[in-house]
Amino acid sequence: MSTDLATFAAERGVKYFMISFTDLFGGQRAKLVPAQAIAGMQEEGAGFAGFATHLDMTPAHPDMLAVPDPASVIQLPWNPEVAWVAANPVMEGEEVAQAPRNVLRRLIAEAAQQGMHVKTGVEAEYFLLTPDGSAISDEYDTAAKPCYDQQAVMRRYDVVREICDYMLDLGWGPYQNDHEDANGQFEMNWEFDDALATADKHSFFKFMTKSVAEKHGFRATFMPKPVEGLTGNGCHTHVSVWDAPGEAAKTNIFAIDPVPGSATSELGLSDKGRAFLGGIMKHAAAMSAITNPTVNSYKRLNAPVTLSGATWAPNTVTWTGNNRTHMVRVPGPGRFELRLPDGAANPYLLQAVIIAAGLDGLATDADPGKRYDIDMYAEGHKVRGAVTLPLNMLDALRAYDKDTTLKAAMGKEFSEAFLKLKQREWTSFVSHFSRWEKEHTLDI
Ligand SMILES: [Mg+2]
Repeated sequence: MSTDLATFAAERGVKYFMISFTDLFGGQRAKLVPAQAIAGMQEEGAGFAGFATHLDMTPAHPDMLAVPDPASVIQLPWNPEVAWVAANPVMEGEEVAQAPRNVLRRLIAEAAQQGMHVKTGVEAEYFLLTPDGSAISDEYDTAAKPCYDQQAVMRRYDVVREICDYMLDLGWGPYQNDHEDANGQFEMNWEFDDALATADKHSFFKFMTKSVAEKHGFRATFMPKPVEGLTGNGCHTHVSVWDAPGEAAKTNIFAIDPVPGSATSELGLSDKGRAFLGGIMKHAAAMSAITNPTVNSYKRLNAPVTLSGATWAPNTVTWTGNNRTHMVRVPGPGRFELRLPDGAANPYLLQAVIIAAGLDGLATDADPGKRYDIDMYAEGHKVRGAVTLPLNMLDALRAYDKDTTLKAAMGKEFSEAFLKLKQREWTSFVSHFSRWEKEHTLDI
C-alpha cells in the first residue's frame, strides 16, 4: 500500500516532513519540508549538495535527491506536527549505489529472488549521560553490578516509559525494558520485523531516544564504549529467514527440516540456517568493519573484564547454543543471535552485511564449524584455531578489503566509498596526539 504523503499530512495535522537519509558513517541527515511542498518532494526528492552527504561525493557532483519511501513514514510521537520519512538517495535518475539504504534494498531483493526473506530484531543498548556527555546522568547509579537494577530503572522511569509508550502507539510491539549491565545503561526491546522495516525502526529508535533524553535534560548515546571499564553498548541482532515478507510470512526457513545429526540441527536450525550461519562465521572478521565501524568499537570487542565481571562482547569467531559468551548464540529453534554488532553500527549496513554474508553461506553451503558449548570468557584459551576478531578499526578495514566476496556482495561502489572514507577516519585518528602517548613516552 503506498501512502500519499500530502493526504497523510492533511489527515493527521502534519505541518513538516523530515526527509531523512543515512550516510556512510551511520549519521542521519534530513531536510524539513513543509507539508505544502511534500507532493512534489514525494515525486522528485529533496535536494542535497553531494559533497555534504558523506556518501563519498565531491563539491562538483550534482544535487543528490533523497526520495522519500512513504512506507517508512512516522509521525513524531513527541511532536506530532512533524513526520519522519526515510529516503532513498538518487542522482541524475539513478539510485546512489553506495547509499546504505539502497545497499540494503538491493540485497533484500537478491534474497527475495531466492525465496528468502530475512527478518531481524535488534537490541539497541544506550547510556543516559549528562548533556555534555562527560558523566552518567544518574549520580545514584553506582552499583558494581547494576544489571536489572530495579531502583535505577525506576529513577529513569520518565524517559523509559515515554519511549516505550511511543513504541506502543507506533505498533512496534515493545515487550520489555531494563537497566543493563553498565551504570547508566538501558535496553528496550520491540518485536522483530522484515530487515528494511527493522533498519528504519532502528534508525528512528536512535532519533527518538536521543530526542526524548534531550527533552528530559539528558544525553542518550549508543557509542560502543562510552565509559571506560564499564560494559559497552551492543546491538545484538536476531536473525531468521522466512518464505515471504511481512505478514505473508508463514514458514521459518531456518526451522524446517533440520538434517539430523548435525551440531546445528540439535539446536533446531535447518540446513539452510546452518549454511547462512556458515556465511556469517566465514565473513565475521570482515563484517566487523561494518558491525563495529568506529575506533571506539574495538574498546568493546576484545575488552578486559569490566567492573560487572563480564563484557558480554565476543572476542573470537565461535558459535554455540544458549550461551552468551560466543559471537553467535542459537537460543532456540529457527533463529540465531549475532552478538558482534555494537551501537555504532549503521542500521542499514548492519542488516545488509548479515544478508550478504548469509547469502554467500547459502551459495557455498558454508560450514559454521565446530560448536563450542563452553564459557568462552573462562575457557576460550582452550579453543584452538578459532578466528579472532580484529583488534582495531584498521585491522577490520583490512579484513574487509581482503574479503573480495563480501566486498562484491555489498557492492563495488559501496565498498570503495566505505573503505575510502573509513581509511581517512583512521588516518585522522592516528594523527591525533593522545594523553596516553605523553604519559608513556615523554621520558623515554
Ligand atoms: Mg543487552
